[in-house]
Formats: sequence, C-alpha cells, structure tokens
Amino acid sequence: MQMARVLVLGAGPAGISAALYARRGGAQVTVVHKGKGTSALSRAELVQNYYGLEEAVPGAELERRGLAGAIALGISLVEDEILALDYGEGFQGFRAVSPGKTYEADSVIIAAGTTRKAPKIKGLRELEGHGVSYCAVCDAFLYRGKVTAVLGSGEYALHEAEALLPHAAEVLLFTQGEEAPSRLPPQVKVHKSPVTALEGTERLTGILLENGDTIVAEGLFVALGTASGSELARKLGVMLAGQDIKTDAHMATNVPGVFAAGDCTGGLLQIAKAVYQGAEAGLSAVKFLREKK
Ligand SMILES: Cc1cc2nc3c(=O)[nH]c(=O)nc-3n(C[C@H](O)[C@H](O)[C@H](O)COP(=O)(O)OP(=O)(O)OC[C@H]3O[C@@H](n4cnc5c(N)ncnc54)[C@H](O)[C@@H]3O)c2cc1C
Repeated sequence: MQMARVLVLGAGPAGISAALYARRGGAQVTVVHKGKGTSALSRAELVQNYYGLEEAVPGAELERRGLAGAIALGISLVEDEILALDYGEGFQGFRAVSPGKTYEADSVIIAAGTTRKAPKIKGLRELEGHGVSYCAVCDAFLYRGKVTAVLGSGEYALHEAEALLPHAAEVLLFTQGEEAPSRLPPQVKVHKSPVTALEGTERLTGILLENGDTIVAEGLFVALGTASGSELARKLGVMLAGQDIKTDAHMATNVPGVFAAGDCTGGLLQIAKAVYQGAEAGLSAVKFLREKK
C-alpha cells in the first residue's frame, strides 16, 4: 500500500522538525524549500539561546545540520519555489505548484517563515481589502472587466498576473525598477518606475509612480519576492489573523489536512518555538492521515 504523502513547505527549524516527526510517524515526506541561505535561521549570525549549544553557532551552520539530519532520515528535500497551494484534482488532497512542477500530497504543513519586510507605499495598508489584495486566485473575480495591477517582478508576480488575465479588462505589472519576468504574456503592460503611493479614499483609484505618472487602476495585487506562507495559506481558504496563519494547539488550521508551524504562525519568532510547533504539526499530520484511512 502507498504511504501517505506529507508535503512540508519550508526547510527552516519548523519545516525540518515537522518533517522529522512525520517521517518517524511513517509518512512519505517531501520538503520543498527555496534553498540553503533562504531561511531566517541562516541569517542569524550566532545562535546562543537554543538547547544543547555549548558555544554559539552560526545560523547557517544550524541550517546545514538540520538539512543533513533530514536527509539522513530518508526525507526528500527539493529546492523549488512554491507559487500556489490548491486542492487536488481527482484525489482528496492538495497540490503545490512551482514554476515547473506540481507536487501532490495528502497533507500539507506550511512552515515557510515570515517575510519581515512590507512594501513602504503610502496608502497601501489603508486600502487593503478596498482594492489592494494579496491573492489573485481568491479575489480575481472581484475585478472582472476592471484595470488591475500586480506589484512584483518574479515568478510569483507572473503567476498572479496570469491568474488575473481571464478576468480583468487590462493587467498591468509594476516591477519597482526590476526587469519583468521573461515569460510574461505580451498583453500585460509593464511599468518599471517604482510605485510611491496609492490614490483613493474609499477604494483604490490610481497608482502614483516615482516618475510623476498616475496610472488609473481599481485593483492592486501585491506579489513581491516569493509567496509567503500566509499568502499560500490564504489561497486554500486558511484563516489568518493579520499576516499570521491561525492554528489550534495542535497546529491544525481550519482546513482539514493543512497544518502550519514556526514564524508563519506569529507569536514568538524564535527557533525553540519553531521546532516545537514543527514537531506538533508533524505528529498532527500523521494522526490526521491515520484517521482518514
Ligand atoms: C538576523 C536574525 C537573527 C536571529 N537570531 C535568533 C537567535 O539567536 N535565536 C533564535 O531562537 N531565533 C533567532 N532568529 C529567529 C529564527 O531564525 C526564526 O524564528 C526561525 O528560523 C523560524 O523558523 P521557520 O522554520 O518558521 O522559518 P525560516 O527559518 O524562515 O524558514 C523558512 C523556510 O521556508 C522556505 N520558503 C519560504 N517561502 C517559500 C516558497 N514560496 N516556496 C518554497 N519554500 C519557501 C524557505 O526557503 C525556508 O526554507 C533570528 C532571525 C534573524 C532574521
């Protein structure tokens, strides 16, 4: 019989801890992450406040040990960037979509950390939910026949622009000075000049650029960098509290089979908490899969 498949999104302390517990619980575990040096852990110069460290250890070295430990336990680690999470087609489970691949799983653990930087654009926070959105798959239908924009320049921004094209009258891409993605459909109009402010009181009406131009638009989808854990969770209908993924004490979200752990759940942003929540999420995913059989 095929082993239940658990997909862990993220290879920081939360993701690796979740993977270890799910693997020891008998699941077939795949961890997808953006590669070495992409976790918050890898940016910690020296870690001194974690159990068992006689001397302070660089975060990058702890990351290396974590990845090596997972591989030693037979966990499959894949370097890729997940752009969207979705429900399975033709099977009860989930799909994670990257630029070149689709991963299928019976349960998903989101441990993608948190993005600590928010774009500093005047009016952005005020217009969230009033023209500013973070999920094209969820909200594209609201912009049917309207001029709609995407903020970003990577694969994630490309994915959001493609999701909007069938709905919006016109799709614009604001790249904040960066080059547009090479595979961008030709009908998407690119603006390289950075966005400085958003206009509109009740709802978004226009986008003000550094070069002085104002571009009329009724929707703006923020897709800077890569999709964060909460952005991916939102696409599945997972409840958030602000930018944090909401879970119960066993790290279960409101969507059966989807769990979350670590910085993406908010609270204490520390390794000890990420490792604990990862362990709990891994155990919970295994329990969920056993009860589902
Ligand atoms: C400078 C700095 C110093 C710190 N010092 C300490 C300290 O001394 N002690 C301490 O306890 N804590 C410290 N922290 C906090 C600690 O690093 C974090 O709390 C911890 O790393 C959180 O673990 P996590 O697994 O939730 O997320 P992360 O460690 O951020 O890992 C996130 C993972 O998700 C992956 N990912 C994200 N998005 C995607 C996507 N779309 N597709 C695929 N993969 C994705 C990334 O590649 C990465 O593998 C520090 C943090 C920083 C930034």
